[in-house]
Amino acid sequence: MRSSYCENSNFSHGPPRLIVVCDDPKVPAELTPKRVLRGMLARGSGYGIAPPTWTLGKQERRADRPREVKKASRQVQKRLRKKRFCNAESLRLAAKLSRCDRRHRCFSAACPQCARALQRVLVRILAPFLKERVGAELWGTLSIILPPTDPDAEIDFAAERERYQTVLRRAGFTLGVFGLDCTFNEDWRDLNPPKKPFLPHACVHLHGFAPIEDIEAALPLLKKLVLATEAVPRPFHHSAFDAAVKGVAYNFKPSFERRQTIEQFDPRRAKLVRNTRHRPQLTVEQQIRAVRALDQAGLNGRIILLGVHFEIVPTARARTNPQT
Ligand SMILES: [Zn+2]
Repeated sequence: MRSSYCENSNFSHGPPRLIVVCDDPKVPAELTPKRVLRGMLARGSGYGIAPPTWTLGKQERRADRPREVKKASRQVQKRLRKKRFCNAESLRLAAKLSRCDRRHRCFSAACPQCARALQRVLVRILAPFLKERVGAELWGTLSIILPPTDPDAEIDFAAERERYQTVLRRAGFTLGVFGLDCTFNEDWRDLNPPKKPFLPHACVHLHGFAPIEDIEAALPLLKKLVLATEAVPRPFHHSAFDAAVKGVAYNFKPSFERRQTIEQFDPRRAKLVRNTRHRPQLTVEQQIRAVRALDQAGLNGRIILLGVHFEIVPTARARTNPQT
């Protein structure tokens, strides 16, 4: 059942004709059909430098442009062809990425060009939607980190998506926009027995936005459902959300990072304390694992929409049905 329409009017110069449709809250979340996202990318949406634009990190670095992303794609292809990791699957993926250009897009979530375009399409449609919602009610950000089922296993976004969707549903969420991110966690602490550092592992975690009332109501259940571990002492976090484009973009970022747990001397407390440092550049092995998983996941594999879904409609229909 459809309860309302929200058009992406802020960024609707010409096509795209993608809208966010609010569902009946009782309808369970469905996987966003690949054809919807592929349809947008096939029109060339997201590949250029048209708005929206945003900055990255505390240094306010500008987001990558097409030329830089092509360079990143060539680096991924080179790594996929490295002797140590080379197999038929890697070569197939490298060839697929190398053929991606404006005449023939590869539509792989592992392709830096297509992943950037997908992020921009999602920001273009979701930023105005979230801004509208945040204008009407208080929304917050929520991040959840579930412990990995098997640190040595390949990254499986489909299985992780199911796990997180189950937690969200059991915690009572019926409305929200979420994305799956992945970090490669490493323990660099020099611990003395019996304390042992945790094993390096890929950690898929959830980040997204939901009404603050729902987040606060879910906290007691989340405390029972998501337990702290040595690797993840704070498995969930929430804060206020201002619907800034930068925040929405972060939710669907196309690249992953290394997260290193270290010990640092805290002069105020006069002792070593746990801290985390972030390294944006993955090792060759980590990047190969990431791109294989992304290609497997597809364009829709890291998106979780609760209570809303996307539809491509003719522009005229989007303009004439603002509310139903
Ligand atoms: Zn591509």
